[in-house]
Amino acid sequence: MSAAKQLYELQELDLEIESQEQALSQATSQLGESQAVLKLQSQLQAEQRRLEELRRKQHSAEWEIEGVSTKLSTAEETLYSGQVKNPKELANLQHEVEMFKAKRSQMEDKALEIMEQVELAESAVAKTNKQLETLKSEWQRQQQALSETVARLKAVLSDLGHKRQLLSAEIPPQAVELYQGLRKERGTAVARVEQGICRGCRISLPTTELQQARSGNLIRCSSCGRILFLA
Ligand SMILES: [Zn+2]
Repeated sequence: MSAAKQLYELQELDLEIESQEQALSQATSQLGESQAVLKLQSQLQAEQRRLEELRRKQHSAEWEIEGVSTKLSTAEETLYSGQVKNPKELANLQHEVEMFKAKRSQMEDKALEIMEQVELAESAVAKTNKQLETLKSEWQRQQQALSETVARLKAVLSDLGHKRQLLSAEIPPQAVELYQGLRKERGTAVARVEQGICRGCRISLPTTELQQARSGNLIRCSSCGRILFLA
């Protein structure tokens, strides 16, 4: 095998390694916490806090109703006990009873409103919880698939690395050095020659260069400096 062909194969290997490395780093970057899951988790926490607060409000409203109800019963008992005879006191007592009734009815309306809010908050929590479970299991499946991809890519890369080692050991060190320098400098170190044209710079090659390349000598394009490879 000519050195040009070996270097061309080395380049093919390097390009393959590059693309697998890119795939690996992309897969690796997707491993880890899911922003969507984190966002939904904090939404759920906010909804749960709101639900707890509403439940506290509901309990205190119920306590208030109980307190007014007790006062109302006491007032009514006194009113209907027959113990109070003074008309003015009776009128006052009557007024008190009406006031407690009105207050209780107002509080009951408020409690009902809070209860409705509690129910809404409960269904919001349940809905978000369900969404979160779905999202989490989806994400876990994705992570599992990603881990498998990462493991596979690592195996592929280790195999390619081994192949590269074997191949570069067969090539004269000076040629490898030239190749490495060109790769760093221009990305492509070895250019194919097709129909007398260097594919690196798309310029027609002089006949002497073509002949030398054809004979298997390590020839560089006089225009772009890349190593020429004739298939
Ligand atoms: Zn060229």
